[in-house]
Amino acid sequence: MKPLIDAFTNLIARIRGLNYIDEATLKEVLREIQRILLRADVSADVVSSITKTIEERFRQERPPEGVTSKEFLVYLLYQELVKALGGEGAPSVDITKRPYKLMLIGVEGSGKTTTAAKLARFYIRRNLRVGLIETDVYRPGAYYQLKQLAEKVNALFYGEENSRDPLSILRHGLEYMQRNKVDLVIIDTAGRHRNEEELLKEARAIYDEAKPDEVMLVIDATIGRQAAAQTEAFMRYVPINSVFLTKMDSTAKAGGALTSVIKSGARIKFIGVGEDVDEIEVFDANKFVSRLLGMGDLEALIEKIRAVEEEREIMEEIEEGKLNLLTIKKQLDSMMKLGPLSKIMELLPTSMLPIQYRAIMTDEERMSNAQEMLRRWRHILDSMTKEELLNPEIINASRIRRIAKGAGVTPKDVKELLNYYQLMKRMINQIKKSRRRLGRLIGE
Ligand code: GDP
Ligand code: MG
Repeated sequence: MKPLIDAFTNLIARIRGLNYIDEATLKEVLREIQRILLRADVSADVVSSITKTIEERFRQERPPEGVTSKEFLVYLLYQELVKALGGEGAPSVDITKRPYKLMLIGVEGSGKTTTAAKLARFYIRRNLRVGLIETDVYRPGAYYQLKQLAEKVNALFYGEENSRDPLSILRHGLEYMQRNKVDLVIIDTAGRHRNEEELLKEARAIYDEAKPDEVMLVIDATIGRQAAAQTEAFMRYVPINSVFLTKMDSTAKAGGALTSVIKSGARIKFIGVGEDVDEIEVFDANKFVSRLLGMGDLEALIEKIRAVEEEREIMEEIEEGKLNLLTIKKQLDSMMKLGPLSKIMELLPTSMLPIQYRAIMTDEERMSNAQEMLRRWRHILDSMTKEELLNPEIINASRIRRIAKGAGVTPKDVKELLNYYQLMKRMINQIKKSRRRLGRLIGE
């Protein structure tokens, strides 16, 4: 991963160093992105779709206000990489029932046994009782390998050193875990067989016997984009719920492994970044790409662009006349993020605003006071029901009391917010009316 991070951070530094982006430099930057991705073993079609989209968007979209075109290019690169890696947000790693049965499958050497121990440690740290079952009867030493790891991470262990029958070990193991009231059972399986067909058949038999809540496919990232073919082969025999990509630390092909697995339709949940049981990470496309491109500045930039975009959406809502307390809630969030940069604030004639609110725009010193009020309003909005947010008109005295109590404020505070809402509403109607009049005047 290191070479990939270096290549991208160098590229970002170069973009930052440009005076401006003309046709020639844009082409050059796009070519460099292609080179980096191809070197990371990302397939040619994925690479070209990423760079094409960046190019199109860079030509068609205008950077949000306050964002330079260089920053915008970096942002587009960020967004398109995140998209290629499966989109926004970290996957849920919650254990949804107890006991939860997690089955690991994958070819020999992919890292299943190590991964079993990593997952055990990960969930033990989340206060679960975790048990490990070894059903690999082919690889000499598999039993001791997992037994030792289990001791290291303080997980329960079940295995049968001399058995040749994975299904019977599994049955006994599941009984053992049940007796010991384990929350999470992790089933390690074999990867060595005479041929692929046999391996997949055994995986299917174990699946039918264990009826796991989740099947996690373990893939060695050093195989690069071939990871897709492997994923698809396993998918034909057992439903794959998630993927654990191992050895991300020791390959230059991580990009290929990631993008190809995602293209095959599987969800990457974790990555392994070293041999030690602690070297496990939840896979989050946003965080991952931030790291690739060199965190720091990027996070601030993304935050800024997101807030500006959100605000534009809110403005549109307001202009369409769709004003309710939910709009106000989003508006407050956006103002708290953007501070004095906020466009929404400019929209409001100062004289119409409550005193404290005016302070935001005029008096920096009193900014924190105003922020305090915004926070209070946010609490109030948080203790309203969805229905109340959408139809503020239903909020009567008894509702006000309940809301105030929930937010830890006085009913007067709630009324103040409701007044602000009424004010906004009147203002917007006025603006709309004057626009219509204006429209008539200029003959629209
Ligand atoms: P299995 O045959 O699928 O059970 O694979 P093992 O768990 O025995 O692992 C095979 C090899 O890969 C061992 O040497 C592990 O230490 C190594 N390994 C597993 N995960 C990682 C990882 O995330 N990073 C690195 N560098 N090595 C790993
Ligand atoms: Mg193993």
